Amino acid sequence: MKSIFEKIINREIPAEILWEDEVCIVIKDIEPQAPFHCLVIPKRKIERIALAVESDGKTIGHLLIIARQMATDHNLDSGFRIVINNGAEGGESVPHLHVHVLGGRQMKWPPG
Ligand code: 5GP
Repeated sequence: MKSIFEKIINREIPAEILWEDEVCIVIKDIEPQAPFHCLVIPKRKIERIALAVESDGKTIGHLLIIARQMATDHNLDSGFRIVINNGAEGGESVPHLHVHVLGGRQMKWPPG
């Protein structure tokens, strides 16, 4: 079954796209948890970080570099947070790996 993110990548459902290249797409989160909240999503589906293998390393590295680029492009100079939720207890709700980039407010620790 196609994930909601595959449908967005295929333009079957709309999303606000901030960046796209051959490896990933970046969209604004539909339910933002901070003034800036985007998702960096690999086009080639990896279900979750727990299922990533050595050969996914280049893709995952690219996701982090683009996450950093999003923070720079959106002037998150005073700080930002990168999050990957994994599995039910980790708070994952979409089974297609994605990197959250959040910023524009003071982050708390520990996270909820
Ligand atoms: P997770 O909970 O799996 O770490 O993150 C999934 C994220 O995807 C959530 O923050 C949720 O708001 C976002 N999301 C779920 N469905 C959609 C959608 O259809 N469009 C967009 N832009 N974001 C979505």
